Amino acid sequence: MKSSSCQIIYKSFFDNMTDGLACCRMIFDAQEQPIDFIYLKVNKSFEKVSKLKRVTGKRITKLIPGIKESNPELFEIYGRVSLGGKQETFETYIKSLGEWFSISTYSTQKKFFVVIMQNITKQKKTEKNLEDTNRALLNVFQDIQEDKKAIAHAEARYKFLLESIGDGMVATDQNGKIILINRAGEQMLGRTNRQVVGKMLDGAWPVLDEKGDQLPEIKRPVINALRSGTTIKSSSYFYVRKDGTKIPVAITITPVIVKNKTIGAIDIFRDITKEKEMEKLRTDFLSLASHQLRTPLSGTKWLIETMQRGAIGKINQQQKEYLWQIYGLNERMIKLVFDMLNVLRLESEVVIVEKKTVFVSNLYDEIIKSADPAAKEQKITLQNIMKNKVIVETDAQMLSTILDCFVSNAINYSPVGEKILLDAKEEPNAVVLSVEDKGIGIPKVEQSRIFEKFYRASNAKDLKPTGTGLGLHIAKMLADKIGAKVSFESKENKGSTFFVSIPQKSNGSMEKNNKIKNITN
Ligand code: ADP
Repeated sequence: MKSSSCQIIYKSFFDNMTDGLACCRMIFDAQEQPIDFIYLKVNKSFEKVSKLKRVTGKRITKLIPGIKESNPELFEIYGRVSLGGKQETFETYIKSLGEWFSISTYSTQKKFFVVIMQNITKQKKTEKNLEDTNRALLNVFQDIQEDKKAIAHAEARYKFLLESIGDGMVATDQNGKIILINRAGEQMLGRTNRQVVGKMLDGAWPVLDEKGDQLPEIKRPVINALRSGTTIKSSSYFYVRKDGTKIPVAITITPVIVKNKTIGAIDIFRDITKEKEMEKLRTDFLSLASHQLRTPLSGTKWLIETMQRGAIGKINQQQKEYLWQIYGLNERMIKLVFDMLNVLRLESEVVIVEKKTVFVSNLYDEIIKSADPAAKEQKITLQNIMKNKVIVETDAQMLSTILDCFVSNAINYSPVGEKILLDAKEEPNAVVLSVEDKGIGIPKVEQSRIFEKFYRASNAKDLKPTGTGLGLHIAKMLADKIGAKVSFESKENKGSTFFVSIPQKSNGSMEKNNKIKNITN
C-alpha cells in the first residue's frame, strides 16, 4: 500500500474511532518544567469524550481554568512523556468537568504528545454504586449477625429467667397444647418436661375445684382464659401431682394476644399450702378470739352498769367516779378488741361484699341517730345538707361503718358546740359522700400517714388519749373491698372533710328512679 493511502486509512480510522484523540504540544518554562499544553489537532470524538468545545490551537489552562491546581498529575505525566518518556496509561477525575477519564499517552517527537482518552464517568458511577451496594450489604450482613447474637443473648436470658423464677410456669398454644414448662413447674407438678410438653392439658395433669371434683378440660381455667381473652386469677383450684397428692395453687393465667388474635396462654402458679394453713389458723383464731375476748368484756360492762344502778347496795360519790373510770377503760378495751378483730377479719379476705341499693338520706338518718348520744355530750349538731336525693349501689353495712368512723372522728376532734355537715354529690361516674367538721384538723406533715394502722396525729393524741388509730385504717380497707376511695381535706385548727367516693356505672342513680330493687351479689 502506498504511504498516502495508508495515511487516508489512518485518518479515517482516527476520525471514526469512539475514543477521543488529541495531538498536543507541551510548553515548558526555563527550568524545563511543564507549565501548559496546546491542542494541535483532535479527532471527531474528542469533543464528545472530553466535553470541551473548539479546542484546536488553545491552551488547556485557558480551556479549563484552575486545572493546574486541581490536576497537577496531568502536567507531570504529559511532561514526562513528551520529554521522551515511555507510554503511560492512567485514570483521572477532572473536578471542574465532573468527569472521569481513562487516558493513554505517548510521544512521537520531543515536546509533542498524543492523548487517547475514554470517558469512564458512567463506569465509575456504576463501580461506586456497586461499592456502595456492597458496603450496604456488608452492613446489613453485620447487622443480621449482631441481631442474631442479640436474639441468642435474649433467648439465653429469658431461659435463665424462666428457670430461675420460683413460680411454676406453663405455656400453651391457642388450643391448650403445652409448649413449655419451667423447672419450678416440673417440681411442683412432679412431672418432667417430656411428660408434659406436647400434651393437651388433661393429658398433662388433673385440676380439682374447691370441692375436690376434677374439672373437665373444657372448664379448666387455661381454656377459659384462651376463650375469653382475659386474665384469670384464682386461689381456689388444686393441681394434682404425679404421685396423686393435691396442692392448692394460686394461679394467674394470661392469654397471649398478638394482633387481636389469641395465640396461646401462660399459666403462672404457686403452691399456697402454707398460706392456706395460715389462713385456717387465722380463721380459727378469729372465731376463738371474738368469743373469748368479747365475752368477759361484755360481762364486766354489765356488772359495772349493775353496780352503777345500785343493784347491789348504795354506792357513794367516790365509788361512782371510780366505777365510771372502770367503765371508760372497759369501753376502750371493747373498742380496741372490736377494731382489732375487724382488721384481722378484713385482712383475711373472708369478707363478702353484698351490694344493694342504698338511699343515702336514710343512711344519714340512721348514722345521725346512732351518733346522737356522743354528739349531745359535746353539744354538737349533725346536719344532713344533701340537696339531691342520692342513691348508691354498694354494700350498705360497709359504707355505714366507713361513715360511722368519719362521724365519730368529727365529733371526737371538734370543739364543743360545733356543727358537722353530711353531704352527698353525684359525679359523672361516682357518688361522693362527705363529712365536714370545724375541728382541730390534721397537721400537714402528718396527713400522708393518717390511714396507716394505729397512726394518730400528735394534736389528736393530746386531745383524746383514748383513740386506737384503727378506725380510718378499717375505713380504708372497707373502701377497698367495695371498690371505693377514701380521702380528706384538712387544715390544722380549721377543720377537716372526709370523703368516700363510690364508683357507679352511670349517673342515673337518683332516688326518683323507681325501678331500683335490692340487689345482692
Ligand atoms: P382514732 O380516732 O381512734 O385515733 P382513726 O383511725 O379513726 O383513729 O383516726 C386516725 C387519726 O386521724 C386520728 O387519731 C386523728 O389524728 C386523725 N383524724 C381522723 N379524723 C379526724 C378529724 N375529723 N379531725 C382531725 N383529725 C382526725
